Amino acid sequence: MQQHNLLSTPLAHDAYERERLENVRPAEWRNPRPAGRYNLVVIGAGTAGMVAAYAAAALGAKVALIERNLLGGDCLNVGCVPSKAIIRTARLYAEMRDAEHYGAKIPVDIHVEFPAVMQRMRGIRARISRTDSVRRLVAAGVDVFFGAARFTGSGTLSVDGTKLRFKKTLIATGARPDTPSIPGLAEAGYLTNENVFDLTELPSRLLVIGGGPLGCELAQAFSRFGAQTIIAQDIPLFLPKEERDAAQILSEAFARDGIEVRLNTSAVGVRVEGGQKLVDLVSDDYKSTVAVDAILTGTGRAPNVEDLDLEAAGVEYDTEDGIRVDDFLQTTNRRIYAAGDVCLEHKFTHTADASARIVVQNALFAGRRRLSTLTIPWCTYTDPEIAHVGLYVREARAQDIPVKTFTIPMHEVDRAIADGEETGFVKVHVRERTDRILGATIVARHAGEMINEITLAMVAGIGLRTVARVIHSYPTQAEAIKKAADAYNRTRLTPTIRSLLRLWLKW
Ligand SMILES: Cc1cc2nc3c(=O)[nH]c(=O)nc-3n(C[C@H](O)[C@H](O)[C@H](O)COP(=O)(O)OP(=O)(O)OC[C@H]3O[C@@H](n4cnc5c(N)ncnc54)[C@H](O)[C@@H]3O)c2cc1C
Repeated sequence: MQQHNLLSTPLAHDAYERERLENVRPAEWRNPRPAGRYNLVVIGAGTAGMVAAYAAAALGAKVALIERNLLGGDCLNVGCVPSKAIIRTARLYAEMRDAEHYGAKIPVDIHVEFPAVMQRMRGIRARISRTDSVRRLVAAGVDVFFGAARFTGSGTLSVDGTKLRFKKTLIATGARPDTPSIPGLAEAGYLTNENVFDLTELPSRLLVIGGGPLGCELAQAFSRFGAQTIIAQDIPLFLPKEERDAAQILSEAFARDGIEVRLNTSAVGVRVEGGQKLVDLVSDDYKSTVAVDAILTGTGRAPNVEDLDLEAAGVEYDTEDGIRVDDFLQTTNRRIYAAGDVCLEHKFTHTADASARIVVQNALFAGRRRLSTLTIPWCTYTDPEIAHVGLYVREARAQDIPVKTFTIPMHEVDRAIADGEETGFVKVHVRERTDRILGATIVARHAGEMINEITLAMVAGIGLRTVARVIHSYPTQAEAIKKAADAYNRTRLTPTIRSLLRLWLKW
């Protein structure tokens, strides 16, 4: 199993990296002596594990948290935080190149300082690591153990030989990159999210294998830094889960950025020649070879279920889908729960967080909170962003739910026009003949922010009629949502109501 280890990166002596390490894995750390039987032992200190440990300790529980690598898990160290930091700089470069569009002129040639981009990212990551620091956990009353956890029975586990007893346990061991088995790939060397943020030099030519959210976000960022970028995806549809018009808009945006997207294309072999990586690609019957300097794989995530001796605890699992849980996040051992990427279909930081909160209530306070009641939005942070919540039209149709959709293109929104950010749309689906929101897709520069308004409306049971009554500050891009609600309201003006109104006004 590939494991990112900060201590072994070439950047271990960078001041920002030292600060991060001091926060998330201090060198002088000594594990505490186990304090009897814990109310909750948490395995894995990513988002799910940290949220659960804090929440349980705040409620008075005796909590132990075990981490084999770095506190903060993927999100802080090799996921959301570093990716969003470099995406921001990539956007700046794209905007600088587009300066004339905004009536500005950059008086010099734009030169990408890749080491500075990565240094800024490391600075941001170090700063955010303060929130995930061991000091904060200890101050909150959590016993922190560094080491690999494995079960030794249905009520015990050990951390590198130290035995811990528990009433309840949460498995929050996350997931890792699921690397494709392509002959020659391992020998040639490749990047995943676990080492791509250690780069100090920009690869001139990059092949991204896999066109999911991770592949798309990083492909666009690296392309904007100046890497000649190809995405190879083995299925015929780009962003297959998203609505087709959303995927089409992103595909056009990628073409403008100079990214070559090859669909229905599999990488079948890799070899190194003259210092470059030659990758054989097959698209139907067409074979080609591309020469690149780096290969980034983004072909999915595999749950971390091995190495835990789950059999000893009677916890059932699957190496693809992870730990088997019911709607209350309970495993096949009633004292053991799971949360986050190790068991969920939607592998996001906010779902790791939400599922951890469910576990604390259900495991420690006999709660009956269900995973299925959550309304989960998500966003792919490309430019434009694609965000979604609730049902897609195809899902509603599959469930025989009649749907009516209200779509507002961003080029009808004053703020989007003023900002030169007109690409995209807001699309809200309601149940036909009602204003009940079933779902929404937003493609826009700030879609990830805008989707929260729809999510709030769905969770609070607020329909489009009420959204239409909410005053939105002018000019904001979120006005697109208000316009969709206004469009719904206009449908309430049936011919009968219209003629009644006309009669009233005449009178
Ligand atoms: C490049 C990238 C970008 C992303 N961007 C976003 C984004 O913008 N927004 C978003 O919502 N999500 C994003 N994600 C997903 C997000 O990072 C994950 O969903 C989230 O980190 C899951 O949290 P977790 O706690 O379940 O697992 P993790 O963060 O993976 O934490 C699990 C922890 O368990 C530890 N562990 C594993 N096995 C053991 C063991 N046996 N003993 C002790 N410890 C163990 C691991 O070392 C790890 O620290 C991104 C992911 C990637 C890869």
